[in-house]
Amino acid sequence: MNRRSWALSAVLLAVSIGLAATGCDSRGPTVNRVVIVSFDTTRADRLGCYGYEYAETPHVDALAAEGALFENAVSPVPTTLPSHSTMFTGVYPQDHGVRYNLVFRLGPEAVTLAETLKSVGFATAGFPSAFVLGEQYGLNQGFDTYPEPPGGRRTRETPLAHNGDPAETIVDRALSWLDDRADVDRQFVWLHFYDPHAPYLPPFPYSSTHRERPYDGELAYADAQFGRLMKRLRADPAWDRTLVIVVGDHGEGLHEHGERFHANLVYETTQRVPLIIRAPGARAGRVAAPVSLVDITPTVLDYVGVDSSAEFRGISLRGGVEGDAPENRDIYFESLAGSMNYGWAELRGVRYGDWKLIDSDKPELFNLADDPGELNNLAELEVQQVEDLRASLAELQQPLNGETAAQPSYEAITDPETEAFLASLGYVAGGAGGSAAGAALPREQIDLEPELLAGQTSVAQRDWAAVEDICRYVLSRDEGNKWALNNLSGALMWTDRYAEARDYALEMIHLYPDVEQGYIMAARAYRGAGDTAKSREILGRGLEKLPDSQGLSYLSLVAGFDLKIESVCTDEVPEALEKHSQSALLRVLRSRCEAMNGMPERALATLKDAVDLGFVGVRRLDEVEEFSELLQMEEFRALAAAEDLGDSGAGDD
Ligand SMILES: [Zn+2]
Repeated sequence: MNRRSWALSAVLLAVSIGLAATGCDSRGPTVNRVVIVSFDTTRADRLGCYGYEYAETPHVDALAAEGALFENAVSPVPTTLPSHSTMFTGVYPQDHGVRYNLVFRLGPEAVTLAETLKSVGFATAGFPSAFVLGEQYGLNQGFDTYPEPPGGRRTRETPLAHNGDPAETIVDRALSWLDDRADVDRQFVWLHFYDPHAPYLPPFPYSSTHRERPYDGELAYADAQFGRLMKRLRADPAWDRTLVIVVGDHGEGLHEHGERFHANLVYETTQRVPLIIRAPGARAGRVAAPVSLVDITPTVLDYVGVDSSAEFRGISLRGGVEGDAPENRDIYFESLAGSMNYGWAELRGVRYGDWKLIDSDKPELFNLADDPGELNNLAELEVQQVEDLRASLAELQQPLNGETAAQPSYEAITDPETEAFLASLGYVAGGAGGSAAGAALPREQIDLEPELLAGQTSVAQRDWAAVEDICRYVLSRDEGNKWALNNLSGALMWTDRYAEARDYALEMIHLYPDVEQGYIMAARAYRGAGDTAKSREILGRGLEKLPDSQGLSYLSLVAGFDLKIESVCTDEVPEALEKHSQSALLRVLRSRCEAMNGMPERALATLKDAVDLGFVGVRRLDEVEEFSELLQMEEFRALAAAEDLGDSGAGDD
């Protein structure tokens, strides 16, 4: 669906909500409080109610005993932001466009559950606990309250800091929000528990009681905090009108299928998540039919009596909660992480009943009833089944309304240093061009996971000798590895070996002509060697291939400044701004042009616009020659000082 038609359906939705909100649902008690708790990185099979013998999850288990437990709930994507985006829009990644963390954001045209509930008078609060759900990634849409998670803004300093606020903090915030709104009728609150995510460091006493199984210890801790929330909810007069949903965003490999964490593979370890729905007056039960997180938004809207005309991929699970098993249907899942980061093949799959297809040029087919561990690939025996599921998969990949799905968005990151730094860590967004032809299969390369993770740590520590060693090792095993080509090029540049760095960057361009990072690295290598003209030339080549790339456009203009090319200010900056009208960085360049042309007041006004749009590098501008006049201005100093304050405030959070 393109942006316009999605926005249009938002209008239609708002209209139909207005009508529905005046009516009353006759099917059962009216729900006017909705509570969703998403447990990050939580495997269904590690909870007591899903049969795990070592579990210490009494509070989630108790909810399952009185609500409905979905035995086969499928996560659409084994990463946090895309999965939550599906949860809160009722559509798949190919529709909302969020394929991965950090380099994507949920666009403003998305219609979120919070927006819809807010539009019918709900007070809304979201309590995310990790930076990947920070407000710049767009999931905050529709939430009145959305405290910024730690590191949510300062991605350069804490780019991969897998620390989050502990569940205790999240529950405290939610309880205090609820206390402050005791007299508010309609409430929607979402809590996100990041604790089960690696590293597994549960607090005392779980650190002691679960010394041998720290992941289970994190779950036990998160469950205890969930218990605090439940105690409060159960004691509230609104309890008989409260809908509670407990869900996992994705699971964790825990060394099965060779995967330690999550993101790159799509086995049940990471795709099968807990889903428990407790509705007032509903019968307890277990539901075997496969369902998806894409069903959560339609389910909630059904319960609150909002008759939505927005198009969903999901269905309402109210029937399932109340005893009518949902029908079998095709359920979609994907992982593009390996493709975007390493140049491996993209993984897409479909679930229908007990059948599960993970498609590639060497497809895998499993019957999960007979083979829950996915150890027995039936693809060569069950050729017809593979064909049928492939046909379903092709259909699921058609974007809603048959139009082009949203593409990766770089708009989330307005600081070029952050972007470069994230890229150095492996966050190389590739979009459609993420994999070379004949790309390696993730399952055949996943044993490189320890080296790739160690490499990311070495990059974060700027230990370039280690980065170089690891990249060379990875390339010896996986010669087209995108992360390794990129970072070897980077490590070589840090140690002034520009010619060799350029060769690896050119190899990247050769293998991944549709990925902007290759052009960026090659341009840097030329620039480092003193050849700015060649640097601008390679950026131009990149722009021929990727005319919509804001990053390439920006860097090309910066090179143009250095080369003192006159048309940069007269033609190129205005043209680029026409194309990327919301770009903060391009505004900084316009400001630079204005400063150069002796218009410091105008330059300052433009710079303020850039700050309003998210530019956070004002303090660094004192190195830019053209701004020397601006630096003297009181207002400029105030702008830079405000940024200082903002930064230290976020750092203390
Ligand atoms: Zn997650």
